Amino acid sequence: MTNTVAQAIEQAIAALQSATRIVAFSGAGISTDAGIPDFRSRGGLWEDDRLMELMSARGFRHDPAGFYQASLQLMPNLHRAQPTAAHQLLARLETQGKLTAVITQNIDGLHQAAGSRAVYEIHGSFRTGHCLDCRASYQMAAFYEQIERGEIRLPRCARCNAPIKPDVVLFGDLLPFAVWESAVNAVEQCDLLLVTGSSLVVYPAAELPNLALKHGARLVIVNREPTDYDRLAHVVAPGELSDFGRLALTKL
Ligand code: NAD
Ligand code: ZN
Repeated sequence: MTNTVAQAIEQAIAALQSATRIVAFSGAGISTDAGIPDFRSRGGLWEDDRLMELMSARGFRHDPAGFYQASLQLMPNLHRAQPTAAHQLLARLETQGKLTAVITQNIDGLHQAAGSRAVYEIHGSFRTGHCLDCRASYQMAAFYEQIERGEIRLPRCARCNAPIKPDVVLFGDLLPFAVWESAVNAVEQCDLLLVTGSSLVVYPAAELPNLALKHGARLVIVNREPTDYDRLAHVVAPGELSDFGRLALTKL
């Protein structure tokens, strides 16, 4: 680790120490160390158009079984992954009364698994699902295991046999308005927005840093790769989020 990187990490931790109303915004990068790949890193599966098409709202309508195959291929370990030190850090900051909300693009449920309670999942969750016909709700993990073992191709409702869809916002779906509004409210009232593991290119979530800055908050970005918001941030700490999480947990 170079001196400047170590200094940036220390500055990021110091900023967290002095803040009192932190909001965290997390993307797929916070979960890569848990074994769930992101889409945009080099070697990511983003370029595979066929898989991305299958995982869209239209893909689900045309071929729901193909949707499940593609999702489990794009996000292996989704239902087995355990939270990382970075997830644990955010949960601890909430317990200390310093963090008011985690806003996440992730659909893996790992913030809640780490103990975070105020979590706004703007892209929904793969952990739960609903019958498309009678709206019965389901925990999805057992279905994913059955698909992986080749026992079923498509989760179906025990009551009415209609397909079950995970509670996720797909490409082509609308954002859940109430969740988005709560996220915006939290950002407008924070004194520090901590961005973790997001390339900040998915709109409208990528608007949140602008919103935080407009309302006078500090912006701290912890990410492996540069983002378009780095030049506006108070601190940019490059590097691995788990390392950052482990170090920060010793100081916060
Ligand atoms: P992204 O793939 O656009 O960006 C991830 C960012 O995290 C990249 O900039 C990368 O450099 C960084 N990163 C990756 N691993 C890191 C690590 N260990 N330490 C520090 N930085 C790291 O992710 P996104 O902006 O969240 O957008 C992808 C979309 O796909 C999201 O909207 C989400 O819904 C979905 N998705 C979710 C999951 C998940 O729930 N775990 C996984 C893949 C994709
Ligand atoms: Zn049903």
